[in-house]
Amino acid sequence: MLLGLIVSFLLGAIIGSFLNVLILRYNTGRSLGGRSGCLSCGKKLRWSELVPIVSFLWQKGKCVGCRSRVSWQYPIVESSTGFLFALIFWSLAPTISLIIFYWLVAGASVFIIAYDWKHQIIPDRANYFLFGLAVLRVLFFGPSLIESVLTGLAFFLIFWALWYFSDGRWLGFGDAKLVLSLGLLLGASAGVTALCLAFWLGAIIGLTLIAFGRVSKLLKLFKRYTMKSEVPFAPFLLLGAWLTILFQLNVFFFF
Ligand SMILES: [Zn+2]
Repeated sequence: MLLGLIVSFLLGAIIGSFLNVLILRYNTGRSLGGRSGCLSCGKKLRWSELVPIVSFLWQKGKCVGCRSRVSWQYPIVESSTGFLFALIFWSLAPTISLIIFYWLVAGASVFIIAYDWKHQIIPDRANYFLFGLAVLRVLFFGPSLIESVLTGLAFFLIFWALWYFSDGRWLGFGDAKLVLSLGLLLGASAGVTALCLAFWLGAIIGLTLIAFGRVSKLLKLFKRYTMKSEVPFAPFLLLGAWLTILFQLNVFFFF
């Protein structure tokens, strides 16, 4: 078990470092191939500067060439993918097919969370990839085909309406596509649980950030988070979904 957890974490961290490249370069006009370099001085990275998490800590978060700061995105994405992979192993072992399946879902989730946070949009391809996985789940692992399909459609319609009637101010259309997949993946009760968690977490964290934004008018810090700036919602949706998947939470338990 311990060895499995360690291997899962390391695999996740390595996948996470590939995700970092995708998050940084996808749809930005930069090529996805080619060696990574420092964003400030352009210095190509050697293998010793590419070790997930370790390199960042070793270099104290600075470029070896020009000493400019390296984004916290790198170690955060690497370690959270690692932890997620290990948690999946811990909660689903020994069913290898399910573990690999959820590792794929986890990779897509981390990409969407970080990309949406950074660029305020979910790339269609990431949504389609997740949708494909959700369809696989319904066909091969799913408890109930009809329940999953109805849940996905209901979620999609609700979010589509929220998007349409708010002119995209509350949510993006990408969020509607995302909840279609989450409904398919989770089914009715887990799906509703995930949405409730997402709204609660979104409210708590959103209000916290807005509060910080208010305070920051005095401190002139955290200027990004004011009332007008959108807090991306996909991270909360996926966080809610993962809490539900990993810990079998059920919101109906409380009623
Ligand atoms: Zn540099």
